[in-house]
Amino acid sequence: MNSHVKHSPIKTVNPFTNKIEKEFDVMTSEQVAKIIDNADVAFKSWKNTPFSKRATIIRKVASIMRERKETLGKLATIEMGKLLAESIYEVELSANIFDYYANNAAEFLADKPLDVKHGEAFLSYEPIGVILSVQPWNFPYYQITRSAASNLMAGNTMVLKHASNVPQCAQIMEDIFKEAGLPNGVYTNLFVPGRSVSAIVSNPKIKAVTLTGSKPAGSSITAAAGENVKKSTLELGGSDPFIVMADADVQEAVDVAVSGRMWNAGQVCVSPKRVIVPKSLYNEFLDKTKKAFANLVVGDPMDAATNVAPLSSEQAAVDVQKQVQKAAEQGAAVRIGGNRVDREGAFLEPTLITDITPEMDAYFEEIFGPVFMLYQYDTIDEAIEIANATEFGLGGSVFGKDTKKAVEVARKIDTGMVYINHVTGIAPELPFGGTKESGFGREQSPAGIYEFTNAKLIRTTSSDKAY
Ligand code: NAP
Repeated sequence: MNSHVKHSPIKTVNPFTNKIEKEFDVMTSEQVAKIIDNADVAFKSWKNTPFSKRATIIRKVASIMRERKETLGKLATIEMGKLLAESIYEVELSANIFDYYANNAAEFLADKPLDVKHGEAFLSYEPIGVILSVQPWNFPYYQITRSAASNLMAGNTMVLKHASNVPQCAQIMEDIFKEAGLPNGVYTNLFVPGRSVSAIVSNPKIKAVTLTGSKPAGSSITAAAGENVKKSTLELGGSDPFIVMADADVQEAVDVAVSGRMWNAGQVCVSPKRVIVPKSLYNEFLDKTKKAFANLVVGDPMDAATNVAPLSSEQAAVDVQKQVQKAAEQGAAVRIGGNRVDREGAFLEPTLITDITPEMDAYFEEIFGPVFMLYQYDTIDEAIEIANATEFGLGGSVFGKDTKKAVEVARKIDTGMVYINHVTGIAPELPFGGTKESGFGREQSPAGIYEFTNAKLIRTTSSDKAY
């Protein structure tokens, strides 16, 4: 890569300083086509490589990541600004996901016998070819891992189009795959801007596409996939509700919701974006939330004392602040924050908003930053109505001492995941994905590995006994 190219859209701009650190060339369409050709050639042998051999390589990827978690962590913090401790945690989580599929893929994809009257029938799970993976910047390693671990273990090959602001994370992962022994062509980066992705979907050698990101990117890519009759999965945005039950421990709920919302400077698809509290607890909850905000330290993401990082880019900080201003103009109460922090970097003050009504955009949209929105309810049905008011359907939480009641409420929330008494418990064995406009398909868990495999039926019997 040429580090002296000017004005490439693919570059590292450190959001702590807003300074450009490194630029990458945009690949030509000929280079992209060649990478896809190589991935297609590589598929022919990778699909026949035994699980045990694939697993050895993927376990090596995990062990290199663990060994270098500090270096990898620093790179993510430089590229997109998250706290160093969060970056390092993300590297460890990703290593665990690689190990999970290395350890379990053979069992998940073993032939599945079916009950038939005569002869035998079974499902043979087979890889389908080159997968195009399009990923966002907010978890630069974890987002790569979610689609790569399952698909590479299934025998698919992959071309990765990472977000344009995290090219060094993309590069270091390609280097690690190579160092771990992944054959040439099995996993390769495409350094291209987002707008050129839908054209890549139509390349006949791309067999399926997965995207995590925004709704506009998701609809553009699924339109291209539909036109070319290719399977797609989408993991889009969310505006997760966090319902506090009347029997909840208020201090615990406040602590979990505030730290959950400030994680990654609020740039998490499954962050508790709308905290919904019974009227009986509202004043106490608000007071305690204000106290928790007073303890937040905004600053250098490399400093262990910081707990609110800059946003991923100057533009992100500008956009989130505009959403807060619009909420205020429409009548919401901005109780704390709402301003840029008076220092260089993509900082926005941790912000607390209340009195949000269905007449306001903030009631429905996703705010991808450190903005805590507090709602109140009279009856639990009202809480559920608020929770389901957005077109998003990704995650959510219910917080309360009576777990049975909390689970009853969880069943009524229209999302792909609900966590009781905690926020987003990401783990390799838990499926991740949404419903409604948060997308379709699942990653992680056994479910993740079936998305891009062909569950082929093989039936053996004589023709006179077939039916
Ligand atoms: P974004 O703009 O959609 O970017 C995501 C990826 O899509 C990037 O690689 C981007 O490339 C690419 N892209 C942009 N426009 C595209 C287009 N028209 N066609 C195809 N690809 C395109 O998303 P973002 O706003 O940066 O990321 C934040 C969003 O992702 C939030 O809504 C968040 O909730 C969601 N998210 C969801 C999950 C989940 O699991 N559900 C996880 C993390 C984030 P460029 O960088 O080159 O533009």
